[in-house]
Amino acid sequence: MTRAELDAVPSYVVNPIPERKINLSTNEVPFGPLPGVAEAVAAATAKVHRYPEMAATGLRDALAARYRVAPERLVTGAGSAALIEHLVRATAAGGGEVVHPWRSFEAYPMLIAGGGGRSVPVPCTPDHRHDLDAILAAVTPATRMILLCHPNNPTGVGLTGAELAAFLDAVPPHLVVAVDEAYREFVTDPALPDALVEHGHRPNVVVLRTFSKAWGLAGIRLGFLVASAEVATAVRKVVTPFSTNALAQAAGLAALRAEPEMLRRVGLVVSERDRLAKALSAWIDGIPAAQANCLWLPVGERAVELARACEERGVLVRPFAGEGVRVTVGTGEENDAFLAAIAEVLA
Ligand code: PMP
Repeated sequence: MTRAELDAVPSYVVNPIPERKINLSTNEVPFGPLPGVAEAVAAATAKVHRYPEMAATGLRDALAARYRVAPERLVTGAGSAALIEHLVRATAAGGGEVVHPWRSFEAYPMLIAGGGGRSVPVPCTPDHRHDLDAILAAVTPATRMILLCHPNNPTGVGLTGAELAAFLDAVPPHLVVAVDEAYREFVTDPALPDALVEHGHRPNVVVLRTFSKAWGLAGIRLGFLVASAEVATAVRKVVTPFSTNALAQAAGLAALRAEPEMLRRVGLVVSERDRLAKALSAWIDGIPAAQANCLWLPVGERAVELARACEERGVLVRPFAGEGVRVTVGTGEENDAFLAAIAEVLA
């Protein structure tokens, strides 16, 4: 009854988060909504009996001004996850191949399958970098898109400017290269390029951004992509109608007005990230230099056991069986609780 190829696709499961636990497992920021957001959403509820404005024009124009791109090159959606699926639908539906690094964002294989494409995962190098040569070598006549994650979830490792530029020069120009920059705001290393600023003008490059991370709107579901006008037009044709809902439009506009506060909060996350990394490196070898709001602990076979021991001590982190543990940077207090749990477990 359903598509046979879905049998092989893993499900993306995020367990319910118990209120009493410290949640460092889902890569959000811990501070609550930005100022003005809750009020804007509350005001927008007065009109929820009406459809939202379909093209989200007000939000799109504000994003266009903020990111200095023409509005027709922008598409908003219900989170960047939804937009990745729409992009696959627009480029690769019908079994086209989508090449992407792995381990990376867990949902990629499902979003690719959901959009009607075929996931072609390419293992990252032992030092957690995208293996760009192997990604290029994986391109076949059936390839329709390459999806990069910069910086990568769960490792927080990004591409250098030289690497990304050389890669984009080498990719056959008919292939869409989507660069998922969900964590861009947390990047502090100047070696990591802003793909939107540096390469957004290339006709085959699509940059994905989200309001779920630094902008603190994970529960609202809002993301956007920037593409050539041609690719953006094609994506708009396959977007689920009205999927940028009225509350998300209001929240996004309010969040953009609070950008200085967002940046201040990102500063707190970044300094906590660096403090956590330093403390953890006393116990765990090989933690990569993280540029997102999470750290990757390459503990291999101990991953599940370590996460369970943290959970027993009230702190939720994300294990990847046999590979490692991803820990989201929380508030100072939350991070201290995590460090105390780790100290106990690894003592
Ligand atoms: N891309 C990456 C790399 C992510 O880590 C996530 C969320 N974990 C997303 C996209 C999806 O974000 P959203 O759909 O909430 O915008």
